[in-house]
Amino acid sequence: MFVIVPGRCRRSEDLPPFYALLIFPAMPRESTAEKIARTQKILSALKRVYPDAHCELNHASPLQLLVATILSAQCTDKRVNMVTAELFKKYRTAKDFTNAPLAEIEEAVKSTGFFRNKAKNIQNCCRALVEKFGGEVPRTMEELHALAGVGRKTANVVLGNAFGINVGVVVDTHVTRLSNRLGLAKGTDAVKLEQDLMKLVPQNDWTLFSHWLIWHGRRRCDARKPDCANCEIQNLCPQIGVKK
Ligand code: SF4
Repeated sequence: MFVIVPGRCRRSEDLPPFYALLIFPAMPRESTAEKIARTQKILSALKRVYPDAHCELNHASPLQLLVATILSAQCTDKRVNMVTAELFKKYRTAKDFTNAPLAEIEEAVKSTGFFRNKAKNIQNCCRALVEKFGGEVPRTMEELHALAGVGRKTANVVLGNAFGINVGVVVDTHVTRLSNRLGLAKGTDAVKLEQDLMKLVPQNDWTLFSHWLIWHGRRRCDARKPDCANCEIQNLCPQIGVKK
């Protein structure tokens, strides 16, 4: 449950204990059912605000999305898109990446940062695709997760966006920040955050939910300067941890 204190909406449990006791002596915590209902309202609102939300990594195939997502670690989507615009002209199949000299791939992806690791992972990943899956990207979490450089987040991105399969929720820096501020989940452990969010959000919406939070994070709920005054979901947000 939220309570009103001068100038803002706060959850009762986030107030200093003595203050909460003095002013709101019997304020109940938000129940799971209340949190699910609030989450549903947040989803509906974000869906209205961002009807076209989608993965902002440019790609024309599951393989391209897989490579782009590996490159997106610690890098902006904008930079990745600049790099892949050239990369995908040169390497069109998993076999192309496998056969290329590693130094050549390193040079091509250099500006995305951590380029040696990323190039090695892309090549090893593509080698496994060629050897085990006929050059195609597999469609299960287990198979994807076993590939070089593919963690649960990357697998979720590929499954959700290339194949429309909702196996989990993509937890990136925006999803972490917003789910904390919104009081939907707590902490920075991606595995735990994902589990908590999966309990609140209907499975059909898992992929879009990540997009909505990522889009809102980029456009309204900035890490340093969230625009709460103009936020479309302000009335649903306890603004946990937001400095005034
Ligand atoms: S901008 Fe403010 S009100 Fe909106 S989601 Fe972020 S913290 Fe909540």
